[in-house]
Amino acid sequence: MLGTNPFDDDKLHEECGVFGIYNHPEAAAHTVLGLHALQHRGQEAAGIVSFDGKQFHTHKSMGHVADNFNSERVIQSLPGNAAIGHVRYSTTGGSAMRNIQPLFADLSSGGFAVAHNGNLTNAWTLRKLLVDKGAIFQSTSDSEVIIHLVATSTYMNLVDRVIDALRRIEGAYSVVALSQKKMIGARDPLGVRPLVLGKLSEGTYIFASETCALDIIGADYIRDVEPGELVVIDADGITSHKPFPTQQPRPCIFEHVYFSRPDSITNNSSVYEVRKRIGQELAKESGVEADMVIPVPDSGVPAAIGYAQQSGIPFELGIIRNHYVGRTFIEPSDQIRHLGVKLKHNANKAEIRGKRIVLIDDSIVRGTTSVKIVDMMRQAGAKEVHMRIASPPTTDCCFYGVDTPKKEKLLASRMNVEEMAQYIKVDSLAFISIDGLYRAVGESGRNNDSPQYCDACFTGDYPTPLTDESLGEGEKQISFLTDS
Ligand code: SF4
Repeated sequence: MLGTNPFDDDKLHEECGVFGIYNHPEAAAHTVLGLHALQHRGQEAAGIVSFDGKQFHTHKSMGHVADNFNSERVIQSLPGNAAIGHVRYSTTGGSAMRNIQPLFADLSSGGFAVAHNGNLTNAWTLRKLLVDKGAIFQSTSDSEVIIHLVATSTYMNLVDRVIDALRRIEGAYSVVALSQKKMIGARDPLGVRPLVLGKLSEGTYIFASETCALDIIGADYIRDVEPGELVVIDADGITSHKPFPTQQPRPCIFEHVYFSRPDSITNNSSVYEVRKRIGQELAKESGVEADMVIPVPDSGVPAAIGYAQQSGIPFELGIIRNHYVGRTFIEPSDQIRHLGVKLKHNANKAEIRGKRIVLIDDSIVRGTTSVKIVDMMRQAGAKEVHMRIASPPTTDCCFYGVDTPKKEKLLASRMNVEEMAQYIKVDSLAFISIDGLYRAVGESGRNNDSPQYCDACFTGDYPTPLTDESLGEGEKQISFLTDS
């Protein structure tokens, strides 16, 4: 099955987006809209849990929000003034129905639903401890560990139980949870994954992975949930809890490069503006004589605009995207699969023929798509093809909720820049430096003693312990049930 964008098949994928709205008579309908705005963060499955004052209700489905939450019947099956939702792109736990979030459990304190963006790096270790004590897991999702820890906490009130659970987990999490009386938004102590707080009207608050989900329902952005903070919303209003020791935050720097939507504000910066600045830095660091700057659609566009502005080389659309190809096109053979890229993208031959072009892309993961794009440009008659990448070489895996191939599959872990240039057959190849990327996000450079962001996929400098990763593969069977 083709993804929505064949060029994305060789990209890192964000795993999830979360949304929650408290105190609105059309909570579920607003959650559908919020998830629709967050669809880019996860396209495999979506789910919503609502609470009507007495009962919780849920609807979950594989596929896109617009295809599965599009009927009056579905919205009416999710009554209540509070709802949380989730879109996912699975890695941890696979894509089975049983792993679609929000997850729900009946605790001694009542119903409890959780939607989680991120990945716990000690989930397997904790899960084993819990199972040894008799816990019965329903899913293979690392997020279910959070529910079990809350369920088995010995603290009396729910907020303390959630804090108790969060103290035991490692890794990255932005969590939105719903109980009968409260909605809780929490971010891990380093703030690796994003979470914002918004307001629609007096007493009506929203949590969302990105501000674009506030915009779609007309809500105002109040602020980011701070790293290590729990924001609790109930009938008395908002309270903030900061139970963790203060640390240097390490939000994911790749949110700026690729994951977040360009119209979102992340870490107080416009994603679009940062991406343009990345292009400007790239042009300063590795300029080249050329006739036109061409973005690899769609994520390379803002960086290409910045590159063109800085270099003075004209920006042109040299690759045209066909928006009318269905996203569920089945590929019957290798030959057709190879043509898949052309189904959605085609070289703008009239512009490219005989020209020296600078292609701007956001990253190179395996390199397979770069090879196809460069070949497409050559076939269209480009005289020279130079490639500039809006992130440093991706040398290491992400363990914080982003789907990355194994390290040995990452082109930059096997080859230096010169070798990569030969592999993808370009006349020249350059990546933005790590300091250039930090300058683009508003820093003077990377503080190597205390880095301001998580950049582990470019540096191998992981900001949390990787407890599960240190275990052997064979030790980590999660479930004996095979999902169809
Ligand atoms: S490893 Fe890379 S993708 Fe993962 S959180 Fe860190 S910067 Fe983001």
